[in-house]
Amino acid sequence: MKRLDLHLHTTFSDGSLPPAEVIKLAQHANVTALAITDHDTVDGIPEALSAGREVGIEIIPGIEISSRWRGAEVHILGYFIDWMDAGLQERLAQYRATRDDRNPRIVEKLNELGIDITYAEVAALAGPASVGRPHIARVLMNKHYVTSAKEAFDRYLADGAAACVPRDLPDPAEAITVIHAAGGVPVLAHPSWLDRSEGIVPLCKELKSAGLAGIEVHYSTHRPEQTSHYLNVAKQLDLLVTGGSDFHGVTKPDIEVGLGRGQLKVPENLLEPLRQAAKTS
Ligand code: AMP
Ligand code: ZN
Ligand code: FE
Ligand code: FE
Repeated sequence: MKRLDLHLHTTFSDGSLPPAEVIKLAQHANVTALAITDHDTVDGIPEALSAGREVGIEIIPGIEISSRWRGAEVHILGYFIDWMDAGLQERLAQYRATRDDRNPRIVEKLNELGIDITYAEVAALAGPASVGRPHIARVLMNKHYVTSAKEAFDRYLADGAAACVPRDLPDPAEAITVIHAAGGVPVLAHPSWLDRSEGIVPLCKELKSAGLAGIEVHYSTHRPEQTSHYLNVAKQLDLLVTGGSDFHGVTKPDIEVGLGRGQLKVPENLLEPLRQAAKTS
């Protein structure tokens, strides 16, 4: 069954496979079009475009920008961005710089907890990538301090955990503006991460007035009732519907390209409305 996958990470941020490998997996999963949405970087897009051309899969240039709203992390996806836009690249470089500031401090906190890792080990594993906590998780796994990325996050890296260091983040309205300025379509990622007591509607309304165009209704961890709830929210607020796996490779080993945990099915007909929205962005 043909499908889309509009949320994928590669070795250019905190995924464990290069774009060409991700695209091979997408081909096996009958994905006809996909978006590479690395955190705060567009560096993987040229490789993805040429690998996509080779196998006949459309590649949508994408991005995932982290922001903070009332203390919670809100991730904004951008689609059909002009990834060569100088203003976009400059802003993304600023966001990556806040990672370089935070990550060594996480390692220091781990050292204080008696864990013997160095920032050089994290940097070596990440290579030229936009460094994320999943890289630190992988070093902790490789050195047998934890047996999974989940354990690394639960014990040390998650917000509020023992070695957590908050990062300076823009507010979501800024992330949305940056995506629009690069001709892209801004979409709220994994709304279930934010769906607390007051529900997701107040956030979506506020972000829509800042220019949000869509919501990630289909997502690897969404149960059927969550998917239909977010579909209703999209209808109610006149937001576009998108979906993707949020594939990362080894740090989220239960999630497959195109298929999520096996039940993900992002319909092909979601792509054209997104493309049309990009034309007017
Ligand atoms: P950073 O962008 O460096 O702040 O790291 C956040 C990233 O870590 C998220 O985008 C997820 O990809 C990943 N992440 C967060 N929580 C977990 C978890 N429990 N297990 C695996 N990966 C996680
Ligand atoms: Zn990630
Ligand atoms: Fe995210
Ligand atoms: Fe993601």
